[in-house]
Amino acid sequence: MFPLLLLNELSDMFYPRLCTACKEPLLAHEHIICLRCRIELPRTDHGLFHDNPVAVKFWGKVPIEEAAAMLHFHKGSRVQSLMHALKYKNRTDVGITLGNMLGYYCKQYHLFKQITAITAVPLHKERLAVRGYNQSAVIGEGLAEVLQVPFKGEWLERITPTATQTKKSRLARWDNVKDVFRVTDPDGIAYQHILLIDDVITTGSTLEACALKLIQSVGVKVSIAAIAFADR
Ligand SMILES: [Zn+2]
Repeated sequence: MFPLLLLNELSDMFYPRLCTACKEPLLAHEHIICLRCRIELPRTDHGLFHDNPVAVKFWGKVPIEEAAAMLHFHKGSRVQSLMHALKYKNRTDVGITLGNMLGYYCKQYHLFKQITAITAVPLHKERLAVRGYNQSAVIGEGLAEVLQVPFKGEWLERITPTATQTKKSRLARWDNVKDVFRVTDPDGIAYQHILLIDDVITTGSTLEACALKLIQSVGVKVSIAAIAFADR
């Protein structure tokens, strides 16, 4: 019988596993994202600055304790390939990997040391039924593994389905999201410091709407983290 490792290498020759970010063949010891991409993906320096470009987005809108995104997002980039695989190609393994990487990023910069729980921007149940998973929740689970903080996917609920945000103005986006979220158990989250997760931050309106609902509970503090940030 062939050793398993050799079998894997033979199978890689005929059916190469590809890096989800750069699409180059993965080496035998590499998984999901190749080593080169893991090193080269464009990391932000948000961990160095409390008032970084993500935190600034929430100024004057909702009080946030700490905020950061790990990667810069650009159209056509390796980061976009990763997010696309996670969102549209059933690649929950990509979400777990990115969540783990976000966890190591947070540890490197000593971010979010005060949080008591992690939750994610929810999908409406109809969207969830179609996709089968919430991509932000998958990231949150990967992050929770590394930070050793409980993931509480049920704390927020999306009450109404919303149309796609992509082509709307900031004001239109806000009208679209401000009343679509609900905290499922407002008393149950009292005094928690909640790290709220999204996949990619663009305007921040969705996160703002979620955070505004969470902070209505007594003593709740909110911090925000995302895999990527679309710089404008
Ligand atoms: Zn790669």
